[in-house]
Amino acid sequence: MKKIDTTACNNIDLPKMPKKDGKEQVSVLIPLPLAKAYNYSVPENLELKLGDFVKVPLGSRQVVGVVWEKSGNKNDLSKIKSVISRLDVTPLPITLRKFIDWLASYSVTPQGAVLRMAMNVRSILVPTKPLIAFTIPKNTSKRTSDLRITQSRKRVLDILANSSPKNMHDLCLEAKVSRGVVNNLAKSGHIKTLYVSPQSTFKKPDPDHLHTIILSKKQKNAANYLSEKVTNYKFDVTLLDGVTGSGKTEVYFEAIATSLRLGKQALVLLPEISLTPQWFDRFQRRFSAAPIVWHSELNESKRRLAWQSVATGEAKVVVGARSALFLPFQKLGLLIVDEEHEGAYKQIEGVTYQARDMAIVRAQISKCPIVLSSATPSIETRVNVLKKRFNRLELPRRYGPAVLPLLEATDMRDSQLKTNEFLSFDLREALNKNIISGEQSLLFLNRRGYAPLTLCRKCGHRFKCPNCSAWLVEHRLQTSLQCHHCEYKIITPDTCPNCEASNSLTVCGPGVERVAEELKTVIPHARVRIMTSDTVRSPKAARELIASMEAQEIDILVGTQMVAKGHHFPNLTLVGIVDADLGLSGGDLRASERTYQVLHQVAGRAGRAERPGRVILQTYQPGHPVMEAMVKGDRESFMELEEKNRKEGGWPPFGRLAAIIVTSNDSYKADRLASQLAYNAPLGKDIHVLGPAPAPIAVLRGQHRRRFLLKTNREQPLQPLIRAWLEKVAVPSNTKIRVDIDPYNFL
Ligand code: ADP
Ligand code: ZN
Ligand code: ZN
Repeated sequence: MKKIDTTACNNIDLPKMPKKDGKEQVSVLIPLPLAKAYNYSVPENLELKLGDFVKVPLGSRQVVGVVWEKSGNKNDLSKIKSVISRLDVTPLPITLRKFIDWLASYSVTPQGAVLRMAMNVRSILVPTKPLIAFTIPKNTSKRTSDLRITQSRKRVLDILANSSPKNMHDLCLEAKVSRGVVNNLAKSGHIKTLYVSPQSTFKKPDPDHLHTIILSKKQKNAANYLSEKVTNYKFDVTLLDGVTGSGKTEVYFEAIATSLRLGKQALVLLPEISLTPQWFDRFQRRFSAAPIVWHSELNESKRRLAWQSVATGEAKVVVGARSALFLPFQKLGLLIVDEEHEGAYKQIEGVTYQARDMAIVRAQISKCPIVLSSATPSIETRVNVLKKRFNRLELPRRYGPAVLPLLEATDMRDSQLKTNEFLSFDLREALNKNIISGEQSLLFLNRRGYAPLTLCRKCGHRFKCPNCSAWLVEHRLQTSLQCHHCEYKIITPDTCPNCEASNSLTVCGPGVERVAEELKTVIPHARVRIMTSDTVRSPKAARELIASMEAQEIDILVGTQMVAKGHHFPNLTLVGIVDADLGLSGGDLRASERTYQVLHQVAGRAGRAERPGRVILQTYQPGHPVMEAMVKGDRESFMELEEKNRKEGGWPPFGRLAAIIVTSNDSYKADRLASQLAYNAPLGKDIHVLGPAPAPIAVLRGQHRRRFLLKTNREQPLQPLIRAWLEKVAVPSNTKIRVDIDPYNFL
C-alpha cells in the first residue's frame, strides 16, 4: 500500500468561506493539462464553497473549473481576474478532490488533466430539467370524482402503490395502458403529479429481496466477515481468494447488501464490463433492480444521469470500468475490485494509472473497506497479504458438485501436425467426443484475425505497418490486413506489392479465424462461433452470443481473452488452449504471471456444474514453470517462484519502477532528447536507470519511441526523482515525454 494522507472526511458539509469585503480569493482548478489551480477573486455577491463549479475567464475564453482552495488574500487584486459565476451543479466532494490531488502527484501528471477525467460529462454543467412523475397521494380525500376503477386503472394504482414515483413512459409501459388512463387518474386525484430529478425514478436495489441462493457455511462466514467490515466504516483491504466458481460473487453481493441497508454507496469495478451480461443478470436476481452502470461507451444522457445520481447519493450501487473511480460519490461505503489481477485495470493512455491500486487509495480517502476478488491474485496483492497489510479470505472449493477440471499438457514438439495445422490429435479427439455426448467446448487463442504474418513465397516480402514496427494481421472475414497497434488497414491484395507475383502470398501462424477454419475440416458438422472484439462489437452482441452458448446452439466457441471473462456455461466441459506459450515471450516483467492467470481463468470455464471438466493445454515448452504449475494445479509454488525472482531482481512490488518514454515523429529528435535525459539521469545508491533503448515497438502510430526504466528500492519514492530529472531537459516541439509509474505494458 502506498502511504497516503487520510485526513479526508466524508459527508461533512464544509463551512462557507468567510468573506472579506469582496477581497476573497480562491484557486480554481481547470480541467486542462495545467499543473496548478489559478487564483481568482470572488465577486462580493457570490458565496463559494470548496468543490463548487464556477465559470472563470482563461485568456480570452471562459471555462468551467472547480474551486480548489481558498487562497487567502495573497494576490494583488488588480493582477487577477474575477470568478464570473457559480454553476448550479452538485459540488465535487472533498474525497474526490483529495483523490485527484493524490493521483496527480503520484502519476506525475498535471492536476487539471486528472480533474478532466472527473468532469468527463459535459452535460452535467447544464441545469437538469425536472421530470414529471406520478405517485399515490398520501391524503386520498382530495379526489374530485369517484372514477370507476377499471382493470387498467387498477394496474396503474397497484404499480404505484409498490414503487417509487414513475414517469409517464415507464408507467404506461409497465401497466400496459395509454397516457389517457394515467391523465384521467391524475385529474381525478387518484394519483399525484410530481416534479422530480431524473434519477429519482430509478428502482433501488433491494438488499432483502427474496432470492434462491443459500450460502454454504464457508461462504456465509466470508460474507459475514465482509459485512462486518462494511459496518465498521473503516478503511481496510480484504483479498477474497477463491478458485473459479467458488461463489466469490455471491459472497461480495452480501457485502453490497449490507452497504445498501446502511444507506451507503458501493462501487464494483469489473475489468470488461460490457462483456459480462451474466453478472448483471445475477445482480438483478439478487437485488431485483439493476445497478448504475459506468463505462466509456455510455451515451451522454446515460452518463449524465449516472454522474448526477452518484453525486446526489441516489445511486446506491455502481458497477463500472476503471474510470468509475472518478465519480463524485457522496457516501462511499464499499469498494470491490473483481478479478483484481487483471491487466485491463492498467490505464495506459492519457493519465496512466493502475485502477486496482487507485481503488485502494480511493477507499483509504473515503474511509471505507475494499475487497479484491480473484482466483489468481497478483503478486502485488499476495505480498501485501504476506506483510499483513491486507486480510485474506479463502474459498478453496467450487460450489456444489462442481470440481476443478482435469488438466493435461500436449507437447506440440512431437505433434506430427502439418505446418498449417494447429489442433493436436488429442484435442481433436476430445472435441469429437464432446460433440457426441452433447457437451460444449471452448478453444482459446489470444490472437484476433486469421494469421499474424503474411509474406510472399517468391520474394520474401513481409507485410508491415507503415506507422508501427509491427506486422499486419490478416483478417480473412473482412478480407483485410490490419495493424493491431493503430488503425492502419488495407484490402488483402491478390499480388505481391514488391515482386508483383500473383498467388504467391502465404501466411504464418494461427489466429482464431484460422482455428475455426481448421475445425470445419476436422469436425465438419460442429457448430462453431468466434468470440473476439471483431465479432462482438457491442454489449448487445455479447449478450446474444452468450445466450446462444447457454441455449447450446454452439458446440465449439473459439475466442480470445474475451471468452475467459467470468462466463458460466454449465454444459461446457472441455477447454482447449491452442497456444499456451503465446504470452510468454516479450521480456515483460509480468509475462509468466499474466500467462498463468489467463490460462487459469480460461481453464476455469470448464466443468462448472455437475459434469467434470477437462483442459488440454498445447505447448512447446511443457517444462516451463507456468505449464508445470497449470498441470499440477500448484498455484502456490509457481507464485512463490515468481515472487522470489522479483525479489532477487528488486522488481515490483519489492522495488519501485517507472518508465519514461520519449516520443517524437522525428527519430533524430527522439534520440537527442533521450541522450539529454541519459546525461542528466538521477544517480544514487539503489537508483538504477536502464536505457535509453528503443521501446519494443520502436515506432508506434508514426511516433519514434525511446524508453528508460527507472528502478529504485521501496524506500525511495520515484516521483521527486522524476520531477527533478525532467526539469533538467528542454522538450523540443513535436516531442513528448511520458511518465508511466508502475508500468505494465512494455510495448
Ligand atoms: P466465482 O465468482 O468464485 O467464480 P460465482 O459466484 O460466479 O463464483 O459462483 C459460481 C456459480 O455457482 C454461479 O452460478 C453461482 O450462482 C453458483 N453458486 C455459488 N454459490 C452458490 C450457492 N451458495 N447456492 C447456489 N448457487 C451458488
Ligand atoms: Zn513478392
Ligand atoms: Zn500500425
